[in-house]
Amino acid sequence: AAKQRSEGAVVYDAVFDKASEQSLSLLTELRTAAENDEFRLHVQPKISLSTGAVVGIESLVRWHHPVRGNVFPDEFIPFAEQTGFIRVLTRWVLDRSAALCRELQQQGIHIKCSVNLSTRDLLDQDLPAKFNDVLARHGLSPSSFCLEITESAIMDDPVRAQQTLYRLHQMGVDLSIDDFGTGYSSLAYLKRLPVNELKIDKSFVLNMENDVGDTKIVRSTIDLGHNMGLRVVAEGIESEAVWRLLADLGCDQGQGYFMSRPLPADKLADWVRNWQP
Ligand code: C2E
Ligand code: CA
Ligand code: CA
Ligand code: CA
Repeated sequence: AAKQRSEGAVVYDAVFDKASEQSLSLLTELRTAAENDEFRLHVQPKISLSTGAVVGIESLVRWHHPVRGNVFPDEFIPFAEQTGFIRVLTRWVLDRSAALCRELQQQGIHIKCSVNLSTRDLLDQDLPAKFNDVLARHGLSPSSFCLEITESAIMDDPVRAQQTLYRLHQMGVDLSIDDFGTGYSSLAYLKRLPVNELKIDKSFVLNMENDVGDTKIVRSTIDLGHNMGLRVVAEGIESEAVWRLLADLGCDQGQGYFMSRPLPADKLADWVRNWQP
């Protein structure tokens, strides 16, 4: 029996070791990636749906892996969160976004830059100070930025997350609720948090011209946002028909492949100059 037990333990340990070995090596890989400059900043334009003007960008990180090629955020962000590496990454994204925003301003392009925050970022008491530091170094005002947060990022520790968000809000940065409508308590957060913007999740937008249910949800969300004095943004606009529909419903801004896929940061200025709505 003892042998069986110890064999069982061996099997269990082997499985455990394999899992922890894998995550250890992924963490090492992420750290190496940062040292070797393998992360890339991509940005997707945010467009005014009534005028067609470029009003902002959203920063979306990519990992250009020497062997695996381009790794998409869904494959490494969750892991970066688990290990705490996300704090390093968020700081990098903030810094690069600020540098881009400043460059654009110098070329006469004045737009707001949105950056995604995750759970760990909201639990980081030093985030407002770090953010301030980034702004100071690039000579930017907080109002050039919008920070996007999801409900799941808030849910882990709502009290602490709320404290961080109030401090950021007091600094004058815009806050946005991302993936709105996909969680269970988005409405509660909308009431409690100092937000300026609501982003309708792309799952309601992608196919809305063929789906009456989606259209109803989107229409109600736009009205809800406006009744609360918020800017409403739709993501996942893949056709002109959806743009028109959203504009008719009064949606303020939009993002999507119809206008542009996320672009490497250094391609943005040219894209803006060539953009014709
Ligand atoms: P998200 O914040 O909801 O970003 C929107 C995602 O929708 C992006 O995927 C974008 O490329 C994609 N998208 C934009 N327009 C369209 C469209 O018309 N059709 C379709 N089908 N998709 C569209 P991406 O870049 O793969 O990012 C996935 C998620 O990874 C993001 O979702 C965000 O949660 C996370 N993420 C990306 N960059 C960062 C980052 O720097 N920090 C953090 N914490 N999370 C990030
Ligand atoms: Ca986002
Ligand atoms: Ca989203
Ligand atoms: Ca999302």
